[in-house]
Amino acid sequence: MSAITTRELVEIDERRLLRRLDDLAQRGALPQGGIYRPLYSPQWTSAMELVATWMKDAGLLVRRDPVGNMWGRIEGSRGGRVIATGSHIDTVRGGGALDGALGVVAGIEAVSSLWQRFGRSTRILECVAICEEEGSRFNTNFWGARAIADRLEPGEADRVRDADGVSLGDAMRGVGLDPAAAATAVRRDLDVFVELHVEQGPILEDHGPRLGVVTTIAGTAHLEITVRGQPDHAGAMAMDRRRDAFLGASAMALGIAEAAVRMGHPAVATVGTIVVEPSQVNVVPGLAKFTVDTRHPDPARRGELITQIGDLSKKIASERNLGVEIKTLRDRPPVNLSPRVGDVLRRAAVTAGIEPREMTSGAGHDAQVLTAAANAGMLFVPSIGGRSHCPEEATAAEDVVLGTRVLATALRELAYQT
Ligand SMILES: [Zn+2]
Repeated sequence: MSAITTRELVEIDERRLLRRLDDLAQRGALPQGGIYRPLYSPQWTSAMELVATWMKDAGLLVRRDPVGNMWGRIEGSRGGRVIATGSHIDTVRGGGALDGALGVVAGIEAVSSLWQRFGRSTRILECVAICEEEGSRFNTNFWGARAIADRLEPGEADRVRDADGVSLGDAMRGVGLDPAAAATAVRRDLDVFVELHVEQGPILEDHGPRLGVVTTIAGTAHLEITVRGQPDHAGAMAMDRRRDAFLGASAMALGIAEAAVRMGHPAVATVGTIVVEPSQVNVVPGLAKFTVDTRHPDPARRGELITQIGDLSKKIASERNLGVEIKTLRDRPPVNLSPRVGDVLRRAAVTAGIEPREMTSGAGHDAQVLTAAANAGMLFVPSIGGRSHCPEEATAAEDVVLGTRVLATALRELAYQT
């Protein structure tokens, strides 16, 4: 590709950008703090309407696709494959104002600014609010990006239900979408997808600089470990005769965290849920079932960590005369993002006077799924205190503005080639 010759940072409307982030944060705001915009809910619909209004106000061609992703488009003068930017509109329960929202609002701002300042692009340029990424209402992580990348599972809309028993298909019908058409949301005409996102960790804030270019997204493995002991009377059974499943699970949880610490950053392992049976105050637990989420961007190290978790769990079980079963619930390998798009983002950051940090993402993102449909790249801005998926999630306004200007600059190089 031939890069445009002017190497200047693209201007954006900073006040409009920050105001829109505040406005979007009102859609789904919870009285106790934090935000919840579950897929196809009234809060989600309200947020999508706002996004569509912004796209229309900018003069973009606006289209809602068959799963509800909202696209805004500038028809490039030379057509060809599409340059796209965006992120997801949904949130976790009690989430913050920037996870996903930043990439949506900044994407609209970047494309609108380019359109206003430089007119029609040579390439087709689109911004998108992706309908779902978090899996918080339905167990459908990356529903929107998977639809774009032709990764929906057959019958998924009928099979998947929320906590109230509502099927994904019925939820779609509720917002005027036809589940039978979901698979037609696929895009086979994308060239590039760029996502601006908050880091959701502390690296950029602690060590700088203010921008990161993501090279790899860590692979996630979810394990379910079931520990079997023996239920006994909490008063009558002597301590040295017990086969307490919960104590075994506890020792395993400590060992699992230690294994990740020993391996060193960015290895992580989290025991996030545990269920004990029979779960009575006066009964020694006969069964404990817990989940492990473990991630590493290096496939070999990730494999090692999973092996270590299995080995230490079996060792602890045998020392304590317990049974143990380990089941893999999910096994997503690490994903490398496009070096070409990474170079464009790096050049744009350098235009702002910043040599960005090359980094891996511990969190999953739409961009990883969209590597199946496009050359995908990601730009990170710092998260204050490394906090995310909580009401305190925040990024300094100057970093929000910087990230958006760098995004716009990268899109200019990609979509305004002469
Ligand atoms: Zn996100």
